[in-house]
Amino acid sequence: MSEFKTKCLIIGSGPAGYTAGIYTSRAGLEPIMVEGSQPGGQLITTTEIENFPGYIEGVAGPRLMEDLRAQATRYGLNIISGEVTDIDVSKRPFAVTVNGSDTTIVADTVIICTGAKARYLGLPEEEKYLGMGVSACATCDGFFFRNRPVAVVGGGDTACEEALYLANLCSKVYMIVRKDYLRASKVMQKRVMENEKISVLFNTNTKSLYGKDVLEGAKVATKTPSGIDDIQDIAIDGFFLAIGHAPATEVFAGKIELDEAGYIKVQGNSTATNVEGIFAAGDVADPVYQQAISAAGMGCRAALDAEHFVMLHTDA
Ligand code: NDP
Repeated sequence: MSEFKTKCLIIGSGPAGYTAGIYTSRAGLEPIMVEGSQPGGQLITTTEIENFPGYIEGVAGPRLMEDLRAQATRYGLNIISGEVTDIDVSKRPFAVTVNGSDTTIVADTVIICTGAKARYLGLPEEEKYLGMGVSACATCDGFFFRNRPVAVVGGGDTACEEALYLANLCSKVYMIVRKDYLRASKVMQKRVMENEKISVLFNTNTKSLYGKDVLEGAKVATKTPSGIDDIQDIAIDGFFLAIGHAPATEVFAGKIELDEAGYIKVQGNSTATNVEGIFAAGDVADPVYQQAISAAGMGCRAALDAEHFVMLHTDA
């Protein structure tokens, strides 16, 4: 078992985490980052990001994360592989366990940037066909469905982005949208509606999935003006969830104050949690904006809050 000490531990390696890493490294806090199970976070599975300032032509998600990582490590951020499995918030410095009991990190301050995880509908068949047709990541798994029909659930920017990505690979893409409109930005809506391979099924919910060993289709119900649902089977080999994300806060429940949806609560205009010395940034603490650039901005604020805290409360 190994033990490390730091003035600032950053948990999570999305845009918030790396930005906090850049700032706290440059401030001399000698930060350590525990990068989590998906280094680089959600953007690692995103194709093109067109709205991150500074990239005139857009940038691929993995490329953006490589750039942020390289910038942070250049200033001395230490990155540890693994996941945080426990945190003792009862006293400072905080003791944080990584991967069971392999590693303990003792930290004067902690910045939580664990982001959010894909949500599922809750159908029993989602679990049954997970990896056998059901996926929450088109860029990871779309390749397996080349020239085959697939469906994407959701009407937000993620769903549109995934549908457009899949339309380049697959024979047909259904979008299953529960309302009578898409919530996505206008530019994404236009691209989807103009794509001949994409059929948008509005007012439609998925009832069940079926298939012998692998996914072969979905039973969907479309609301009609008569009030009676129109039930139909759509033959699909892939079923992609894009219905938003849930904050990754399981390990903090009961220790750090969360809101009713599980997001970490921050105090007023700061990134401080209810535990002195612990800060939160990015999607894990932001149910509203959830953008790469707003997460990065919040990571910067958390780093400045942590730096200020270290100055006031430690001998540093
Ligand atoms: P959103 O919350 O924006 O959209 C979720 C979609 O899933 C909505 O259409 C919602 O329907 C639907 N949905 C939720 N629960 C269910 C359910 N149980 N059954 C069926 N449908 C359901 O999430 P996104 O992941 O799309 O986006 C999150 C944020 O990230 C947004 O701010 C978005 O703009 C941003 N983003 C930006 C991108 C970019 O700029 N390149 C790319 C991707 C995301 P309903 O509308 O009925 O609630």
